[in-house]
This record gives sequence, structure tokens and C-alpha cells, in this order.
Amino acid sequence: MSAVLQRQEDREQMYFRLKSTAMINPNHEWLSCMIASWCVGQGVLPDYLGLALEQFSALKTDFFPECYIPELASSVSQLDYNRMLEKDDLVKLLKKFSKADTNETDWIIAIVVAGCLGSDHLWQDLGLWSRSQLTDLLRYNFPMLAEKNNKDMKWKKFLYKQLCETEGLYLCRAPSCEVCIDYSKCFGSEE
Ligand code: SF4
Repeated sequence: MSAVLQRQEDREQMYFRLKSTAMINPNHEWLSCMIASWCVGQGVLPDYLGLALEQFSALKTDFFPECYIPELASSVSQLDYNRMLEKDDLVKLLKKFSKADTNETDWIIAIVVAGCLGSDHLWQDLGLWSRSQLTDLLRYNFPMLAEKNNKDMKWKKFLYKQLCETEGLYLCRAPSCEVCIDYSKCFGSEE
């Protein structure tokens, strides 16, 4: 079996182990996918999934009490999360639009922000298995923010554009997206 196929099989096995605990809510499914990917080195999530250690421990206890999950990322391309200058602004943005003020929401926010550190599509950097999973995750946890993406902009681009607009910055060179030469960078397939 090739290394790629073996990795996919390992990911699936981890996913089924994670899913064997009782389903709590829809975040359980997305966390299972992200953690399974993270365990086999897919995505860019750093150690503890980008959470503080105590958050990571609480997440494991709440969602996956019977499953062993390592603490450190196995990804070969570890990115320097501490150099992410926009981290606090992204957290603030997601907190502002979160539908609940709970520890669980804070975990999801920290994970989504950590995924923004990568250079692929956000769903890939998070280790989700499809773009539609990310859309569902954002709609579930940040419904009013997700609703604002009514032109189906690529999710990472969309989040950063929200940051610019919050700061009153308009960095786009074109007067509208329809006439912009960078259109395909912001819209179009994210698969
Ligand atoms: S398509 Fe062009 S104008 Fe629209 S958000 Fe992207 S860069 Fe800005």
C-alpha cells in the first residue's frame, strides 16, 4: 500500500475511533475530521490544535473522553503560530459573530484562527474533508458572519476582507469584484 493510501486509512481509523463516543452536537463531527487529519499530519494545525493546553484537555474530556489523542502535531510543516500578527483581530471578529459565548465556541474560534495560518484553502489547512464541512461549521457557529458571505467568497479571503473592513481599510484595487483582475483569487472553486 502506498504511503498516501496508508495515511488515508490511518485517518479513517482515527475518525471512527473519535466518532465512537456519543455525538454531542454537530461540532463533534467536524472536530473528529480535523483531529483525525491532524493525527496523520494533514493540515497546518499546530500543537494542541492551536488551543491553550488547558483548553485542549477540556475539549478532549468533553468530546472524546474515551479516545487517546496526542498533544503534539505530527505535521511535518510546522508553522510559527506565534508570529501570526492578525491572530487577536481574527479572534475578535469570530467572537463578535459567534452564536454562543461558551468554552466550546472559544475552542472552535482558536482552531479556525490557527487554520488561517496555512497557505491552502481554509478547509484544507484545518484538516476538514471538504469545503462544505467548513461552510457548515461556520454557519453553525457563526451564522450571521457566514450569512454575510452571500457571494460565496473563498472562506479565508472572506475572513481577511472582514478584518480589513472592520479596520476601515479598503485594499482592493478594483472598484468592484466583478471587474477585478484578482477575481479568481477571491471567488471560484475551493476544492
Ligand atoms: S475580487 Fe478583487 S475587489 Fe473583490 S474582494 Fe477580491 S481583490 Fe477585492
